[in-house]
Amino acid sequence: MSANDICIYGDLVLRQKAFPVVKFDEELKQVADQMFDTMFEADGIGLAAPQINISKAFLVIGMPREDQEPERLFFANPEILETRGEIGMEEGCLSIPGVRDEVMRPEWIRLRYQDIKGQTQELEADGLLVRVLQHEIDHLNGILFTDRLSPAKRGLLKSALEKLAKSKGDKRFSDYAEKFDL
Ligand SMILES: [Zn+2]
Repeated sequence: MSANDICIYGDLVLRQKAFPVVKFDEELKQVADQMFDTMFEADGIGLAAPQINISKAFLVIGMPREDQEPERLFFANPEILETRGEIGMEEGCLSIPGVRDEVMRPEWIRLRYQDIKGQTQELEADGLLVRVLQHEIDHLNGILFTDRLSPAKRGLLKSALEKLAKSKGDKRFSDYAEKFDL
């Protein structure tokens, strides 16, 4: 798996709701490790399984740290239990190359998830982590950050997004465009 294998806007898997993770086995660990490598190769800080064409509810995050390798975080079946506040921050996405924009999201969340061993955990997060978490959890629900922009901003991005979707050469593009109001 390399950065070239990351699904790009227009891939239908990015629009599907991912299935829950039920098996926490060696294979899951291996896929997660490959996802970390792929994400770092692509200079990303978060990657959700649907972005590598696996419609399962897990994601990895590499939290930047000063003078150290990024911290490797894994979340399966995440569920946001509580949110507070709202804040704007610029986002990009490895599946939507060349597009960045400011997105409004809650600034604090309480989250329940399962770790790589399948143990249930809870976490309170803010700052960059909560931003990346919400972006990646959206991927598990078939939502892309561009969906969260105002209609005016989405309108400005329309041709860039259409170009990305068409570059995938997906024959189902016209159905897709209709369904998701590209
Ligand atoms: Zn993304």
